[in-house]
Amino acid sequence: MSLQVRAAVLHETGQAVSVELVTLADPGPGQVRVKVRAAGVCHSDLSVVSGTIPQLTPLVLGHEGAGVVEAVGDGVTRVGVGDHVIFNWVPSCGECFFCTTGRPDMCDEAFTLMTMGTMPDGTTPFSQNGEDVYMFSQTSCLAERTVVPEAALVPISRDVPFDVAAITGCAVMTGYGAVMNTAGGAAGRRVAVIGCGGVGLNVIQAARLDGATRIIALDRDARKLEDARAFGATDTINTAEVGDPISAVLDMTDGLGADDTYEVVGHPDTIALAYGLTRKAGKVVVVGVASPEQTVELGAFSIPAESKLITGSWYGQAVAGRDLPLILEKYRAGGLKIDELISHRFTLDELPQALDALARGEVRRAVILMEET
Ligand SMILES: [Zn+2]
Ligand SMILES: [Zn+2]
Repeated sequence: MSLQVRAAVLHETGQAVSVELVTLADPGPGQVRVKVRAAGVCHSDLSVVSGTIPQLTPLVLGHEGAGVVEAVGDGVTRVGVGDHVIFNWVPSCGECFFCTTGRPDMCDEAFTLMTMGTMPDGTTPFSQNGEDVYMFSQTSCLAERTVVPEAALVPISRDVPFDVAAITGCAVMTGYGAVMNTAGGAAGRRVAVIGCGGVGLNVIQAARLDGATRIIALDRDARKLEDARAFGATDTINTAEVGDPISAVLDMTDGLGADDTYEVVGHPDTIALAYGLTRKAGKVVVVGVASPEQTVELGAFSIPAESKLITGSWYGQAVAGRDLPLILEKYRAGGLKIDELISHRFTLDELPQALDALARGEVRRAVILMEET
């Protein structure tokens, strides 16, 4: 028997998001219905609204959340009714080349289904007036309830607050994983981080925990640079005020440049800046998601002559079932600040305000808390 649930629906790219009733189908084989308890509002949701991340519409937004399993379809083995879970927005197939070689973050099936807006069986559980409403990344957790494939869930211990669990699923994983998985750690390294929003702050705190010797935070917003200091940055550069951020970084690194630079904005200019302020043979880790139409120009000679390693980091190169519980252990032990990341809490009906506040750069992380229904 299907249910009626309230959900954040984007009817068309570029339009306002509205919270509306949609029909939610029962979980099919391998699928799970989750009562969402908290969902973070992520820049990727804004990128879906603007079209930077192209998606089919209408769709239900949301990919960063946590909740309680309410019903399971046939053959579900990884979770049971009553389990507390985090959504994993790259539900890997376990069978493709990437899944079988230790890189489930690059799963072919998860990518394809992200563009199709469905689950592996080709369906979406959401509909409205008899028309399909697509999913975002097989999660769509900006809804009171959602139905997802079991691979999109990671069970967690019941003592973790839902708001903390929710943002662990994207912002924390993406930033922490960029440092620990993609760059292989930060111990003894001088790190630069461009962009100090929710994900950038997690890059900063992971670098601090792993023993980076210097953490230079760059942003054009003075409030974000204050946050960066609170999360472990040792130096800050306001790019709106400092005319030449590259020479500012060179001054802080004995004229060499940063060992590792993280770009957490998603713009060609800041990607080029990241490349410019990294030392020879250093690492440039691009975490920010720019539009597929944008390109980055780099000096061709510099590629061999300076031998910088440029790599992307998608979802923090997560192995979600391994990394999300590990991150929560570090949170419990007191090392990772996650409560402090949450600057705003809203109800589902207030989602449009939450998206606006995020777009204006006013929030570290905003979390939607669902009423218990
Ligand atoms: Zn996200
Ligand atoms: Zn796969």
